[in-house]
Amino acid sequence: MLKLALKKCANKFKMSNKKLNHGKLFVISGPSGAGKGTLRERALSDFQNLVYSISCTTRQPREGEVDGVQYRFITHEKFKEDIEKNLFLEYAHVHADYYGTLKADVLKELEAGRDVLLEIDVQGALQVREKMPEAILIFIAPPSIEELEKRLRDRHTETEEHLKLRLSNAIKELELKDEYDFVIINDDLETASRELRNLIKNDS
Ligand code: 5GP
Repeated sequence: MLKLALKKCANKFKMSNKKLNHGKLFVISGPSGAGKGTLRERALSDFQNLVYSISCTTRQPREGEVDGVQYRFITHEKFKEDIEKNLFLEYAHVHADYYGTLKADVLKELEAGRDVLLEIDVQGALQVREKMPEAILIFIAPPSIEELEKRLRDRHTETEEHLKLRLSNAIKELELKDEYDFVIINDDLETASRELRNLIKNDS
């Protein structure tokens, strides 16, 4: 009851905080293997006015990944320089690498009236909430840790060591899901996709 009241209050604040003609900022997070990537692609194809903000990362590109498409792949030195220049809206150290969202990228789109979607980890999402309280935070959860492990193993993209790291991070991330405005459990892709579409439709 109290939680509901607090959420209503927060929503009121968000509405009053929305500037005319400005786009809205949607943030999705969730453990690797929860299905964020697929849900993100579906949302982007469903909404013409929704754009994805490409993050910077120090991790190596995976097979098939192209610089400037999935990520901007940059060196540790460049990432540190950008931190010092205060260029990031948020950044975090995730699974042994740095990932961050450039402030200018997001502001440019919002000011042009487009809605922006970020797909970032929980540390980053909470930084966005601090700086832009009007952002809508959506957590994508797997139905269970066992299912998550199965999905990660089926991908065959990680070494055993990295897989273990991703699983232990997943458990920590799941503990923070109640900090989000909405939680979608991705048990069935169609249902989860519809839920995300409805959230974006009602908020944009
Ligand atoms: P992956 O290496 O599998 O592409 O991404 C690993 C994790 O980094 C995912 O949880 C993803 O959401 C997160 N991530 C991707 N880009 C960003 C970003 O710009 N900022 C933060 N904080 N996390 C990010």
